[in-house]
Amino acid sequence: MAASLGTLVFYSAFDDFGTWKQALQAQLPQLQVVDAGAIERPEDVHYAMAWKPPAGFFRQMPKLRLIVNLGAGVDALVGRSDLPAGIPITRITDPQMSRMMAGYVLFAVLRHARDIPHFEQAQRRGEWAYRHPRSPGEISVAVLGLGQLGATAAHEVQRQGFRTLGWSRSPRQIEGVACFSGMETLDTVLGQADIVVLMLPLTPQTQNLFDRARLQRMRPGAAFVNVARGALVDQAALTALLQSGHIGSATLDVFAREPLPADDALWGMPNVLITPHLASVAIPSSSARQIAANILRVAAGEPPDHRIDPARGY
Ligand code: NDP
Repeated sequence: MAASLGTLVFYSAFDDFGTWKQALQAQLPQLQVVDAGAIERPEDVHYAMAWKPPAGFFRQMPKLRLIVNLGAGVDALVGRSDLPAGIPITRITDPQMSRMMAGYVLFAVLRHARDIPHFEQAQRRGEWAYRHPRSPGEISVAVLGLGQLGATAAHEVQRQGFRTLGWSRSPRQIEGVACFSGMETLDTVLGQADIVVLMLPLTPQTQNLFDRARLQRMRPGAAFVNVARGALVDQAALTALLQSGHIGSATLDVFAREPLPADDALWGMPNVLITPHLASVAIPSSSARQIAANILRVAAGEPPDHRIDPARGY
């Protein structure tokens, strides 16, 4: 019989424990997987897989060897005061998750590119409001953030024939995408785009990066898509610019406060599409392979893949 790999504790208010346990044990039958609510001896836990656990969660686990963030965005994790020093933190970077995100981005980009918000509003008025379609090659799409999710989305956007621009911190190369890097190029990229897609992590550098002044640098009438984090954007300024028409329309999956409060002006705006933070999610059956491989690496004394850098914030 294979030796036990020890215990993994699971915490999430959004994800189903049973599904994840089954997916993980299908990969690693010798791993004990326990829900945080049922854990009897936290001092014997070796691995934690968690999404927004309560404060002090990790402090009870002196034998912890690996923290797996149950999602791609680690902003809620890296600032915590209970993270044990030196313990590697990984996140889920599953190709299926990237594909799901790319699908959402493509949907949002095509919706704006084909003027669907205009036709939806006209339909409600019972109007046949012809607007001549633009060809994809006439439309510039800027994807800001070219990581695991952003690079896949940019690739899919350019495959549709859009003039595609990309922006990241360090220089990247993606075939068919005009890639820019560094703060000094951001305004140039923004000023060239008909559709701006935010795919950046939330870090001290990116928080409120899209303030009023920066949003005003977008082309008049351009569309704005945020699938990253609400706190990247000054939401009051975004709302005002959507009301004035400087920003023509928006698809928003993330907000400064979630759930978006019932009295928020964005709900009633005809040029805004709201979805409740679900552009992409971790998929147990495919993500479990990556998590299992990392557990085996750590159990063998090797560093895990897809490690995040808490100091950098992503
Ligand atoms: P990655 O960490 O793989 O990539 C981040 C990208 O952003 C990299 O290209 C990085 O640059 C760039 N970046 C980071 N900081 C800066 C900066 N200061 N200036 C310029 N570029 C910067 O992230 P993912 O692609 O996996 O995910 C992106 C975000 O999507 C997540 O952090 C999360 O917040 C969000 N998300 C949203 C979901 C939803 O359902 N709405 C689901 C999953 C994730 P470089 O390449 O140089 O490192």
